[in-house]
Amino acid sequence: MNYKELINNFITDTIDKDLESGKHKIIITRFPPEPNGYLHIGHAKSICLNFGIALKYDGICNLRFDDTNPEKENIEYVNSIVKDVRWLGFKFDEPLYASDYFDMMYDYAVQLIKLGKAYVDDQDAKTIKEFRGTLTEHGTNSPFRDRTIEENLILFQNMKDGKYKDGEKVLRAKIDMHSPNMNMRDPVLYRILHAHHHRTKNKWCIYPMYDWAHGLEDSIENITHSICTLEFEDHRPLYDWFLKQLKIYHPQQIEFSRLNLEYTIMSKRHLKLLVDENHVSNWDDPRMPTISGLRRKGYPPDAIKEFIYSLGVGKNDGYASIEHLEYFVRKYLNKNSKRIMAVLDPVKLIIDNYDENKFEEVEAKNNPEDDSLGFRKVSFSKELYIEKDDFMEDAPRKYFRLSIGKEVRLLHAYYITCTHVEKDSSGVVKKIHCRYDSKTRGGWSEDGRKVKGTIHWVSARHSINAKVKVYDKLFNKMNPYDSDQKNDFINNLNQNSLKHINNVKLESSMINSLKSEYYQFVRKGYFKMDKDSDKDNLVFNQIVNLRDSWKKHTK
Ligand code: ATP
Ligand code: MG
Repeated sequence: MNYKELINNFITDTIDKDLESGKHKIIITRFPPEPNGYLHIGHAKSICLNFGIALKYDGICNLRFDDTNPEKENIEYVNSIVKDVRWLGFKFDEPLYASDYFDMMYDYAVQLIKLGKAYVDDQDAKTIKEFRGTLTEHGTNSPFRDRTIEENLILFQNMKDGKYKDGEKVLRAKIDMHSPNMNMRDPVLYRILHAHHHRTKNKWCIYPMYDWAHGLEDSIENITHSICTLEFEDHRPLYDWFLKQLKIYHPQQIEFSRLNLEYTIMSKRHLKLLVDENHVSNWDDPRMPTISGLRRKGYPPDAIKEFIYSLGVGKNDGYASIEHLEYFVRKYLNKNSKRIMAVLDPVKLIIDNYDENKFEEVEAKNNPEDDSLGFRKVSFSKELYIEKDDFMEDAPRKYFRLSIGKEVRLLHAYYITCTHVEKDSSGVVKKIHCRYDSKTRGGWSEDGRKVKGTIHWVSARHSINAKVKVYDKLFNKMNPYDSDQKNDFINNLNQNSLKHINNVKLESSMINSLKSEYYQFVRKGYFKMDKDSDKDNLVFNQIVNLRDSWKKHTK
């Protein structure tokens, strides 16, 4: 991908100016996830933007874990995030960790106390909240606000030394309880939490709050442009205030609008609920909007990136459609998938005039879009499987597939004409009989005779058994939330989002099928082998069907 041309937006305009004016020589960005869950496609937007900008400007992008919340975080999440960013194709040295800066952050807090800009508050969380006021009413000063610097230094040291219980005290910035911006009303910098941290173990029993930690992390890493989502716009004055008081290197925070995708949700906390309550099999369930789910389903990383970059970067929140994402997935797969024949709902087709002992190998192009991918040989014999719905006994005039007396093409093979069917006692068609024209090998006729329909098939004797999973949208509603902040999205789960197809017949060449390969099952869609598939139990996930329904003009 050509990142120099790919990313042009109001953020890169700012960066261009900063380079021109000499404010910066090298651009440093960061992607700062909290390791409290698996990444979702919303994060991919932030990843593509931050790493993409580094590539565009030959700069650096750090993967930094914002690991300041030990109770919710763990090493499994850390590892999954590293894997996902790398899978998307972005490179970084080693990930960085906010927890590596805990000592520095503590020292900065001491500095802030010494400046008379922070104090230890004994009020409990509930009282602090009450005293904070509302959007229409100003807050009230804490009775502990005017402690002396000396006293605050001792109390803060005691907090660090584990002399108090969880919640007994906090360290707060001393800013302005009357500020119209609620974030500026003496925000909490540190809370007491006797919790084991996955990296610092039991060293700390006080942990920094997001607003305090984030700007320091950016400053310590010399980030030039700290790019975050719009909900942090109101936090920017606080971000700037801390860095100004401490007189340390001051990155510029810039906000952009987050990615929302129709028929799904984008919150690690809510996605975790789906996993914990077994609504999905795990974080990498192919119905999940997680990077790992999309990977398992078979979405190519380049298609995800192309989709993200096609959205642009702005300040208006909106919903992207799944069809829009699928458009890029199909575009990629059309060029990069191997065509094979697979029958998902089989019925036997017997070619009465084909010798029982005969067997041929017909040649088929691996990808009609790319001749360099060559040909494969597909076994053909007297008994084949075709799709049940490619035959109709009483076919309407415009039905061009198989029906009694009609001639169709067997893809890559011969013309056949259906003669009669065999049914079981309840009238269900069990076998379809036909005759073939041996002069139509390759699927075309020397006499120029045309057929309207072409159907795919699999030689019964050579077929390989497999299972297929077909996925639908995870939720029934475009916006799965009935109201804000609630877990009511559970009510809008699509109960039919997963369909198992267990009697699938694959063409003989699939004996060598690979987990790394993308397949188009002709006329059926794109498929990828599931990560849990094995030789004795082949399982394929449908990546996407073949129908493109994205209307470009609605972009
Ligand atoms: P979640 O609520 O899903 O946990 P978050 O914003 O708390 O999301 P972080 O781990 O803090 O998750 O996210 C790391 C970065 O990814 C942040 O800079 C955040 O702004 C960005 N990000 C998260 N969700 C989206 C989204 N839907 N679109 C774009 N960027 C996002
Ligand atoms: Mg979060």
